[in-house]
Amino acid sequence: LPAPADLVQYQHAVAGHDGTLCDVDGELFIKPCTPAEIVFYESSIASHPEFAEYMPTFLGTLTLDEQQNGQTIEEAGAALIAKHTIPEVIVPTKSGRKITTNQAVVLENAAHGFVKPNILDVKLGVRLWADDAQPEKKTRFDKITEETTHKHLGFRIAGMRVWQGHGAKGEDIDADGYKIFDKNYGRFSLSKDNVHEAFKHFIFAESAGINDELARLVAQAFHTDVSRIQEVLEGQESRMFSASLLFVFEGDGRALRSAMEEASRSPATLVNGDTNGSSDEEDELETPGPKIYSVNVIDFAHAEWTPGIGPDENVLLGVRSVANILQTLSIDAKAE
Ligand code: ADP
Ligand code: MN
Repeated sequence: LPAPADLVQYQHAVAGHDGTLCDVDGELFIKPCTPAEIVFYESSIASHPEFAEYMPTFLGTLTLDEQQNGQTIEEAGAALIAKHTIPEVIVPTKSGRKITTNQAVVLENAAHGFVKPNILDVKLGVRLWADDAQPEKKTRFDKITEETTHKHLGFRIAGMRVWQGHGAKGEDIDADGYKIFDKNYGRFSLSKDNVHEAFKHFIFAESAGINDELARLVAQAFHTDVSRIQEVLEGQESRMFSASLLFVFEGDGRALRSAMEEASRSPATLVNGDTNGSSDEEDELETPGPKIYSVNVIDFAHAEWTPGIGPDENVLLGVRSVANILQTLSIDAKAE
């Protein structure tokens, strides 16, 4: 684990609450959370390893200093003290955003190691609220379901960022050249009949050097992982409300191509260690290549393992819808 380091505001969140942090190297993603989310990470790692494989690597928790308990980070003078795996890290933050919990999960930053990470958050479910939600929240979320792709497809595009190439400028393009699709995009611009276009905008970024061939390979890789997530969820008994699929891939076409070429030169069978090689070779094989893509399930504020009540069809509807769209895109870029 990295040495104690200052935390800074995380700049690449595409959806969700304010107040997420990362370490200066960008390897860690730190999110204020409820105790329930910590319980879910711990129980998944302990008892649901097939699912845990698709969760961001859980590195531990942070707790607000006791004297600052109940205050916002800013009010508290911005000190967090780490426990568990990152002992005694004192964390001054530059964040002025409110944190209404005194706990945070420390996760692997899914966007770390990419040259230009394209990121998509797909929120899952038809029903978005857990049993313990207040009536006001149930009504508000049901209205969102009614008005969006949640209703028929069991998911919506919660937010995304897509790199547009060097020097790209224009509406909704940030200083780093990413086109930002905010929460309004998935709520007001997309319907069940055109939502596949959001995935096209995400994956087929011509101006960033991603041609149709590369894009189809990315869609195929995403499809493989989402199908596996589907299979795992079909075989387990859980309930997750407002969890998301978090997709990341290399948005710089040149970097993407060379990462794929490198991966094809060092097949997974070798990486998995069936080599009888010397330690030199082993060292070489253990060095991870440049990142291509990742798919994670995230956001377990309202998630639990629920033995005895069957698979989570509410979430599975969305997972299957996303898998279908990705499959179509992996076969023919121009399919409508
Ligand atoms: P919230 O409860 O605020 O919705 P999420 O867990 O959904 O919290 O996270 C919010 C956003 O933060 C996501 O949309 C995503 O952009 C980013 N994010 C979440 N987890 C990670 C992670 N492990 N690595 C990188 N980014 C993440
Ligand atoms: Mn979320």
